[in-house]
Amino acid sequence: MAKLNPFEVAQRQLDECAKILKLDSNVHGILRVPMRELHVSLPIRMDDGSVKVFQGFRVQYNDARGPTKGGIRFHPDETIDTVRALAAWMTWKCALLDLPLGGAKGGVICNPKQMSQGELERLSRAYIQSVWRFIGPDKDIPAPDVYTNPQIMAWMMDEYSKIAGKNQFGVITGKPLGVGGSVGRGDATARGGWYVIREVAKECGIDLKKATVAVQGYGNAGYYAAHLAKSLFGCKIVAVSDTKGGIFSKEGLDPEAVREHKAKTGSVVNFPNTKPISNEKLLELEVDILIPAALENVITAKNAPNIKAKIVAELANGPTTPEADGILYKNGVHVAPDFLCNAGGVTVSYFEMVQNFYMYYWDEKEIHERLDKKMTVAYHSVLNTSKEYNVNMRQAAYAVAVKRVAEAMKIRGWI
Ligand code: GLU
Repeated sequence: MAKLNPFEVAQRQLDECAKILKLDSNVHGILRVPMRELHVSLPIRMDDGSVKVFQGFRVQYNDARGPTKGGIRFHPDETIDTVRALAAWMTWKCALLDLPLGGAKGGVICNPKQMSQGELERLSRAYIQSVWRFIGPDKDIPAPDVYTNPQIMAWMMDEYSKIAGKNQFGVITGKPLGVGGSVGRGDATARGGWYVIREVAKECGIDLKKATVAVQGYGNAGYYAAHLAKSLFGCKIVAVSDTKGGIFSKEGLDPEAVREHKAKTGSVVNFPNTKPISNEKLLELEVDILIPAALENVITAKNAPNIKAKIVAELANGPTTPEADGILYKNGVHVAPDFLCNAGGVTVSYFEMVQNFYMYYWDEKEIHERLDKKMTVAYHSVLNTSKEYNVNMRQAAYAVAVKRVAEAMKIRGWI
């Protein structure tokens, strides 16, 4: 089977929404494509003295509701169409959470796992040297995504500040605490996801204290998803995985110990007293809650009929294809769609920007309460819309978000 193009998936989802909303065809036409995109070539001096040229992108999808916002991904399989899809999803995500922001995404084709810290720093700075005219605290604000982290954000903020001739903390979010980062940003994606899962569980009568959980991916989102499952709700984590494979334990895993093992060995695989399990089999486990927290297109028409979880909580962006969506809906699986479920990250990023502008920083309790409120309101707006239009949760999330972006475009006189 040909590899699915994430941007075609994003466009198909929008087309479905346009039908449901009977969207004006001019609005639909504008929303189907990115507003602007930049392609850059980044020559980097490698540690062995050679110069390697990396390809980078920044896509600004739509800024009708405010400056664009979205992470930067460093990944060997990055493509412009992946970045376009992710930028579109950021647009819907910010609108759904009612943040005064549009959507964007960036990416560099590279393999950070095979690069030294020095090479990564030079690449991060070179990216900013190439895109700085295009971004800014009131224009477009990047953040971390797959394989980028707070240290990379710090280098990028520093580079932008040097060019601007003054500190510009608000140009990037997901920074370390010492340079304008926000408390609560580290676990925000997973925490926001759990506030949504809590509401879904109430809706379908699942007792979280007795629930079993499987998590695909053990990066920032996946690890914190496992950690919070246990610490916030007392769930049992029966399986987790990463790119190298997965582990299963009927008795339940200790997320901290697994993280330490991964830090030492480079993978969750071979964690003591567990059985090996493939990423594919993990998705089909008989669990209450399945959390895809890695990459796009992992739940497809092929494996969707075998999904036994009661709740699929999408912490990854775009893990489920449109065909799979139909199958899960028919089978009564409760899907918390990606740009609702994983919106905690950008929500606390928005809080970080506000604190940077304000020059006054909130404590953790305040961040958690504000995040909970935002996620809970967004979830209920999606649930109510799904009942009103008799559509699945993803279609309902699209309906809420697209309506808001369309309204902003109309008020501004774009259409
Ligand atoms: N990369 C994250 C996402 O996909 C966070 C974006 C942000 O904080 O701007 O939502």
